[in-house]
Amino acid sequence: MRRFNAPESACERVAPALDSYLSLELDDARAGEVRGHVESCAACSREIKERERLRALVRRAVRRESAPERLRLGVRQMLRGEAR
Ligand SMILES: [Zn+2]
Repeated sequence: MRRFNAPESACERVAPALDSYLSLELDDARAGEVRGHVESCAACSREIKERERLRALVRRAVRRESAPERLRLGVRQMLRGEAR
């Protein structure tokens, strides 16, 4: 059943833009709209904080994956291969 003028309609309008907002991919007008809503809406504020946390975790995991140690090993192996 569809309710009109339901309080969550603003959240639904903003929800698809949250990821783009965090990636700074929105134009100023849209970003301002998202920011304005998030600042006045506890649910979306929580949602965006949770997404920020997840993005930070992913970034950290990616950084760990390409750790300098592995890079150094790879380069050493390559150099050894060429020296022969
Ligand atoms: Zn909201």
